Amino acid sequence: MALVKINEILAGRHTDQKVSVRGWVYRKREGKELIFMVVRDSTGVIQCTIKKANPSWSEAQKLTIESSLMLEGTAKEDTRAPGGFEIGAEAVTIIGLAENFPISKDKSEEFIRDMRHLWLRSRKMNLVMKVRAETLEAAREYFKRQKYTEVSPPMFISAAVEGGSTLFGLKYFDQELYLTQSSQLYLEILIYSLENVYCIAPSFRAEKSRTIRHLTEYWHMEGEWPFADMNDLMKFEEGLMTHVCHTIAEKCQAEFKELGADIEKLKAVTAPFPKITYKEAIDRLKPKNPALNWGSDLGYEDEKVLAEDFGKPFFVYDYPTEIKAFYCKTYADHPEVAMSVDMMVPRIGEISTGGAREENKDHLIERMKAQGLKPEDYEWYLDLRRFGTVPHVGFGMGLERLLIWMLDLENIIDAIPFPRTTRRFYP
Ligand code: ATP
Ligand code: MG
Repeated sequence: MALVKINEILAGRHTDQKVSVRGWVYRKREGKELIFMVVRDSTGVIQCTIKKANPSWSEAQKLTIESSLMLEGTAKEDTRAPGGFEIGAEAVTIIGLAENFPISKDKSEEFIRDMRHLWLRSRKMNLVMKVRAETLEAAREYFKRQKYTEVSPPMFISAAVEGGSTLFGLKYFDQELYLTQSSQLYLEILIYSLENVYCIAPSFRAEKSRTIRHLTEYWHMEGEWPFADMNDLMKFEEGLMTHVCHTIAEKCQAEFKELGADIEKLKAVTAPFPKITYKEAIDRLKPKNPALNWGSDLGYEDEKVLAEDFGKPFFVYDYPTEIKAFYCKTYADHPEVAMSVDMMVPRIGEISTGGAREENKDHLIERMKAQGLKPEDYEWYLDLRRFGTVPHVGFGMGLERLLIWMLDLENIIDAIPFPRTTRRFYP
């Protein structure tokens, strides 16, 4: 008897054959003459029936929700069954009998969030995690095709990358260190050796506000490369986004269908993306939000409003220098503008930030001082400008932000198996 996966049966590959599956009880209903069970494995769910006359009837009666089991029977086509197939069970073996499973339909969202370790077995989380894995693979594939080398930066760092307000400090033996907010500065080191580099690694942000798009630990896809400008940067990001969207649209049709997510918007992503300057963004938003002026940071609400005009991914570029980090390169003839670009998508707003990095040591030191940073804390970073400095660009895209947009998820916590937020760090 062939040991098979449920999706193979659902694909019609074992119809009218004897099969054996291993998995867990997903639902169960006992009638007088027949037990209906839905069994799940990593690949899907299938309806199984056991007749009273079957020697395994009493064993099947004992089965509780989430018990693990091995089941043997005949795979049959049945239009009444969800998925169009079922297994007529002939033998049932309990592997691990489950206690009373705490998650059921009537439970609150809050309760389900506390039961994350069990909720990860749900169809929704199973499907989201598969799309997440495919997204990572598609992103890696694109970087690799473009000849970028994957590198592994540290998570313990000694100086801040982004603003101090979202920095996590920690005791490191007798010293204070931080958890990295971005791997950018380390990628900048590595371009002098490897040129085009990328990493996919966690970033940590002490975000105190609770929003649908912020985690305290998220996965950051970052690229950095030399001899490049803002046009090269936007072109690369468009290419990456297009490749990921098209790959997912092709490979994850079943997942999107079951999750009820709109796959058409992924197919519609094509380069070049619309591009507007920050100034144009302010002009567009001003009638709706009169408080906005040149120099204001765009908030989540502003970005959402802006995104409605486009209905697809787009870029906002050339931000005011004063709201950008010290490493952003500015225009020589109008230094109040920084070469910085955000990619935005409908409903979520910003999903990536990138830009040209200041390659001139003296400008960099001035910018550090203007922001109250101590150049001596960044000696190694200044060395990069001392020894063979080069124009370079880079960007960072939040994997979970990309996923909530692609999958139409309501909250970023569902885009990662073990979400970390101000209040959630269990299990
Ligand atoms: P925001 O303004 O939305 O807080 P940011 O501009 O501070 O984001 P960046 O420093 O530009 O964030 O980080 C690069 C990318 O990392 C963002 O475009 C976003 O996709 C992602 N990101 C940043 N902070 C978070 C977070 N707290 N949770 C999840 N993803 C994040
Ligand atoms: Mg940003």
